Amino acid sequence: MNKSLRPAVIAGNWKMNKTPDEAVTLIKELIPLVKDADCEVVACVPFVDLHAAIEAAKGTNIKIGAQNCHWEKSGAFTGEVSAEMLKAVGAEYVIIGHSERRTLFGDNDLTVQKRTRAALNAGLKVILCVGEYLEQREQGITTEVVRIQTKIALLGVAKEELKNIIIAYEPVWAIGTGKTATAEQANEVNKAIRDLIAELYGKDAADAMVIQYGGSMNAGNAEELLAQPDVDGGLIGGASLKAEDFSKIVAAASK
Ligand code: PEP
Repeated sequence: MNKSLRPAVIAGNWKMNKTPDEAVTLIKELIPLVKDADCEVVACVPFVDLHAAIEAAKGTNIKIGAQNCHWEKSGAFTGEVSAEMLKAVGAEYVIIGHSERRTLFGDNDLTVQKRTRAALNAGLKVILCVGEYLEQREQGITTEVVRIQTKIALLGVAKEELKNIIIAYEPVWAIGTGKTATAEQANEVNKAIRDLIAELYGKDAADAMVIQYGGSMNAGNAEELLAQPDVDGGLIGGASLKAEDFSKIVAAASK
């Protein structure tokens, strides 16, 4: 598989961190550090930060996204935000199916599928998260788990829509724990996902699919992970909250 067929994408997942003022400060710190990046740079921020972050990033190479969306356009869904609302405020990306949404807030493969569909319909780019629990890895079923998560999320997604989807392989045991998958483990699962895309949509679609790794990626381990043939970028939690750390990962992806 030829990595030059797809752009690297480094996306920050700020989780529930930063007020709007703090978001502006972080974006302003990032701008000069990533302006020459040879990869796509994305910051997925809390809903309340979207407007401020989008304004701060205007005219730069930093794209702004959200961290979830509902599948309905509007209605009686207290506390939820629709994909249309995200699009209207100027968001370009949305993370769907993050393991924290799945484990803490009841998201499952079917709701992930509905959220993905809604985001694509609204014209957003989706960062679709899949990944196994430690017990599943120890049981030897990582590939099956990730394949079924990906397959269900992509049900009804047409080949021409894949350009608006990035898949992030995020082993749950590696998120926020400081435990990173080895470069070989990350590449093995990313390759299994790419093989699935080839089965479902053909080799050209698989070659073009951006598949990130996420899980305690940082300035120290990014280069080795990003050098793997099937790792096309990263979804970064903790290390995205400091401009210098995040920009070092962007630099590693730009090599
Ligand atoms: C994430 O939130 O998607 C993530 C990978 O977090 P961390 O980098 O902190 O493990």
